[in-house]
Amino acid sequence: EVPRYISSDKDRVRVVVRVRPMSEREYDESRKPQKVLHCVNENSIIFDGGQHSRRFTFDSVFNEASTQDEVFQYCGIKRLVDMAIEGYITTCFAYGQTGSGKTHTMIGAHGASIFRMDEQYRVEHLGIVPRSINYLFQRLRDKTLQSSSPYYIRVSYCEIYNEQIRDLIRPANPDTLQVRGSIEDGFYVENLYQTYIETIDELLTILEEGELNRAMASHKLNDTSSRSHALLSIQIEQDVQESDDPNEQMTRQGKLIFVDLAGSEKVKLSHSKGKQLVETNNINKSLLTLGNYSKLVLFFIHITYMDFLGTCISALSDPSKRSGHIPYRESKLTRLLAESLGGHGITLMIACISPSRLCENESMNTLRYANRAK
Ligand code: ADP
Ligand code: MG
Repeated sequence: EVPRYISSDKDRVRVVVRVRPMSEREYDESRKPQKVLHCVNENSIIFDGGQHSRRFTFDSVFNEASTQDEVFQYCGIKRLVDMAIEGYITTCFAYGQTGSGKTHTMIGAHGASIFRMDEQYRVEHLGIVPRSINYLFQRLRDKTLQSSSPYYIRVSYCEIYNEQIRDLIRPANPDTLQVRGSIEDGFYVENLYQTYIETIDELLTILEEGELNRAMASHKLNDTSSRSHALLSIQIEQDVQESDDPNEQMTRQGKLIFVDLAGSEKVKLSHSKGKQLVETNNINKSLLTLGNYSKLVLFFIHITYMDFLGTCISALSDPSKRSGHIPYRESKLTRLLAESLGGHGITLMIACISPSRLCENESMNTLRYANRAK
């Protein structure tokens, strides 16, 4: 079945960039020419690193002054919600170095604490995920009025850290959650808690508690949050009648996945110690199982998961490569996102960056990856 709305690759993968304001620390520590990024208009951004300058074009560029509501209205997420209701698998993920504004953009200002703020502040500073949930419920209410068949919403929330999956709704769930399935049938996390929810508040509570569980775990493990990926999956189901024959009823299942990715900064091999070394080793182990490429080359190119995900994304956005081998199997994250990134999935990437000269190298990397993903 060929999806109706999707006429081109451009419609399948959208890439937007959000530049956060400079922090006080960045103002203090960077002397003289502080900013290396300049948003020219709503589609382009100039990286000016002194020696060289380069212009990038994206589906949208949000500058330092953009509000949470503007990002929500114009990044393209509403289309993803609409398509998920219609049965598509859609994914919105935030990419960028630690501190670049991923959680701010996805969840809201101050992460999970946003849910505890007073109403006026909260309404203004909530991120894309709670705004999308709000929009989803609004759309389902409108649609339910027109159709006799109700919608069901099933939610799961997990975190991948160092190739281990943790349940963020039921944190006591065993640490050894495994990914099962295949590219053909789809991958899933075995025994991951899933719950049907009926109200927006139930869903927001899950989001809030999940964020708190994530923060708590990262505190215990000495801040691993920057190295973990959080996946919130919202499955939307509706029984649909294709004909008058009641036996021909089927369930339409769409999915909306939000991913707050691990920081994209490189883990420097020479500086890896302890836990970080374990991470690096795990990455290496998964790379060694790859057949088609020179292992050594891969090892040096893909030092982190993020680089690795970057490979998958650039392989997907290159039509000549899409029919060929895409290295999904190599990490839990890419396996779980295989459905979304390949086939008929629709993806929105939000690249988050700091304009400060202090972040120059990572910002350039982020823009390059974002550019390649288009
Ligand atoms: P990340 O999740 O990418 O590590 P955060 O979302 O935690 O980064 O952001 C780091 C800091 O910058 C936080 O204090 C956050 O509130 C602030 N920040 C990020 N983006 C913005 C923005 N667009 N406007 C104001 N503050 C922001
Ligand atoms: Mg974060």
